[in-house]
Amino acid sequence: MAVQTVAPHPTSSVDLGPAAALSCRECGHRVPLGPVFACEECFGPLEIAYDFSAYEAEELRRRIEAGPANIWRYAPLLPVPADVADKPNLNPGWTKLVKADNLARELGVTGGLYVKDDSGNPTHSFKDRVVAQALEAARAFGFTTLSCSSTGNLAGAVGAAAARAGFRSCVFIPHDLEQGKVVMAAVYGGELVGIEGNYDDVNRFCSELIGDPAGEGWGFVNVNLRPYYAEGSKTLAYEICEQLGWRLPDQIVVPIASGSQLTKIDKGLRELVELGLVEDRPYKIFGAQALGCSPVSTAFKAGHDVVRPQKPDTIAKSLAIGNPADGPYVLDIARRTGGAVEDVTDEQVVDAIKLLARTEGIFAETAGGVTVGVTRKLIENGVLDPTLTTVVLNTGDGLKTLDAVAGTGLTATIRPNLESFREAGLA
Ligand SMILES: *Cc1c(COP(=O)(O)O)cnc(C)c1O
Ligand SMILES: [Zn+2]
Repeated sequence: MAVQTVAPHPTSSVDLGPAAALSCRECGHRVPLGPVFACEECFGPLEIAYDFSAYEAEELRRRIEAGPANIWRYAPLLPVPADVADKPNLNPGWTKLVKADNLARELGVTGGLYVKDDSGNPTHSFKDRVVAQALEAARAFGFTTLSCSSTGNLAGAVGAAAARAGFRSCVFIPHDLEQGKVVMAAVYGGELVGIEGNYDDVNRFCSELIGDPAGEGWGFVNVNLRPYYAEGSKTLAYEICEQLGWRLPDQIVVPIASGSQLTKIDKGLRELVELGLVEDRPYKIFGAQALGCSPVSTAFKAGHDVVRPQKPDTIAKSLAIGNPADGPYVLDIARRTGGAVEDVTDEQVVDAIKLLARTEGIFAETAGGVTVGVTRKLIENGVLDPTLTTVVLNTGDGLKTLDAVAGTGLTATIRPNLESFREAGLA
């Protein structure tokens, strides 16, 4: 297995801000920052280890609050150089935290219900957050081509970021994705390659390409740059807490594809506690999957520590990863925090998309239908406490998954006169 990638330039002197090294999540083995993702000792996943020792809580809080209205306000906590905001990138983040009172009434939530609406990012999904980190790593390591294996949203985010930053991009997706996602990925002018197979096949292909001379100089944002990419999800945790007035939410409902986002939201919340930016109190993290691709919820319910791969078959294609790399870590976090992992049917996903649109004027993609649907189910089952502050993530825009709500359309077609309007029963 090829786990090491040779960087075009030496990596000893890279400046990625507070990022100090890569450390193995399994055995703690540390290596210098570089485009590597698996531990040379045990093949465990590498993640960023930071040096935050210079920070004092009040000063750090003031520095963040004085920062730009995008993820770079948190640059002191991310693997990026201090002058990152001056470099060409899409400046994602600082999306709305919507107080969803109408939805709360409908679901019987009394403790405060919020939707973190990441459809407001530059390419209309949360993926801009993670790509922005990988882009800085790609710059630092001297890569010239940005690439990824994608379930759709990531391909668009990489294409757009590459266009802005002047990189070549060549991205890989399953050949049968939604039209909206294909167009969103293609329009930025990079190369877009459909693979005959599902996401797990695409991912396997990319791992092969990394080990081959054909992939030399390529930064795969979610493969050889994965440790950097993954840190972008921490910004969701930072923003939610800051937008709540520097307070931890009690409960948070997060969609699961590979599980990376959920694990890094937990990491972000813990960092804020350790840095003294929020008061330490218990929070619960809930994971959400579609029944047609539910390897993690299946393992959670069975009490297993390992996740058995599945063959995805669901309309929630952005979450359709049958062999989720971070699945076991998600199980740990759900169990440690007292949360849960639950799933909903495609029909419930569609109902939830319409519920969120009808109550809050937010049009979510299928992944948002999954989190809202799971939230409703967890409340009905008495697992999620409706008297506590709850944040539900919407990670993408409904305009990219129009097929999911096909059949939603005209109330009536009338002639342009009042008689016809009355006849249609609309007066
Ligand atoms: C990628 C993605 C996620 C989460 O993916 P992870 O691999 O679990 O980090 C969630 N929602 C949408 C819309 C996505 O595109
Ligand atoms: Zn290790």
